[in-house]
Amino acid sequence: MHPRRASTAIYIGSVQVGGNAPVSVQSMTKTDTRDANATIRQIRELEDCGCEIIRVAVPDNEAAIAIATIKRGINIPLIADIHFDHRLALEALAAGADGLRLNPGNIADASKVAEITKSAKERQVPIRIGVNAGSLPPSNVSDQNIPQRMVATAMRHIKLLEDLDFDLIKVSLKAFDVPTTIDAYEDISKLIPYPLHLGITEAGTQRAGVIRSATGIGTLLYLGLGDTLRVSLTTIPHEEVAAGYEILKSLGMRQRGPVLVSCPTCGRCEVDVIAIAEQVEQVLQKSQKNLRVAVMGCVVNGPGEAKEADIGIACGKGKAVLFKKGEQVAVIAETEILTRLMHEIDEL
Ligand code: SF4
Repeated sequence: MHPRRASTAIYIGSVQVGGNAPVSVQSMTKTDTRDANATIRQIRELEDCGCEIIRVAVPDNEAAIAIATIKRGINIPLIADIHFDHRLALEALAAGADGLRLNPGNIADASKVAEITKSAKERQVPIRIGVNAGSLPPSNVSDQNIPQRMVATAMRHIKLLEDLDFDLIKVSLKAFDVPTTIDAYEDISKLIPYPLHLGITEAGTQRAGVIRSATGIGTLLYLGLGDTLRVSLTTIPHEEVAAGYEILKSLGMRQRGPVLVSCPTCGRCEVDVIAIAEQVEQVLQKSQKNLRVAVMGCVVNGPGEAKEADIGIACGKGKAVLFKKGEQVAVIAETEILTRLMHEIDEL
């Protein structure tokens, strides 16, 4: 792992982003923000999954006003996502938004940008400049590639804020294409001190989107880049949060809930490890314990992995060996595997 890039620290409500803060996990609601009750319900579910910062779309004034009600019903900081209309930004700030996602260069009038930054500064509310490869303005420089255009666009937005003496800035440079995203983040990380929000935009549905996001976000994190992340998926938002934590857990950067080690099974396997592992995973999703649980199919690699885990089983024909903290503690019948494993996990 490369050392983490030093970045300035900002606060989205109570959550520090940048500096030495752990990489935080964000999501975005998929409800109509104007429906405050539905939005609160979804955010509360996301809080239970570990979401640390939530973003809501603010397409009109009614949505901006709803932020005040939403804020009263939730426990995590809220970012208002705004495009083009400076009045929505001012309204969202007045309603108590903890952060804005807004590209100042898309607001035509400089005095309106100044109004937003003045209000954000008074409230110490950071602004994320979020550049997406799909909506880049035309470039005057003919030989610029997409990452270069993304960086140039972000730098233009950043300068508008810096010229107003505003530095509570966070930046994202998202593309669907993973190498483009990585190049863009690498390039901008050398130019600015601000924290980076990582993501692969429009990454897709759950299966492909998680892999695409893990490849892009995981590579950037490995390179030491990134202070907060959102996995964007075309599915229910708590999958975004779960995927975010899995990426961070894979790199040893965050702990949240158990890690399941399970073998892929092969011709040596004599029990239904796929079914057992799926059931164990379902149960583990509800646990907050930082445990390593192993479900292994046979005696070849099974005991080794199971021994490394806090709790593990290595299956054999009609039975399994149960390991706890590296020690073999019991041999159990195949029919008892799930109940016994769950019991042991509860005990730990
Ligand atoms: Fe096959 Fe055993 Fe390895 Fe599982 S642990 S993949 S059953 S060799």
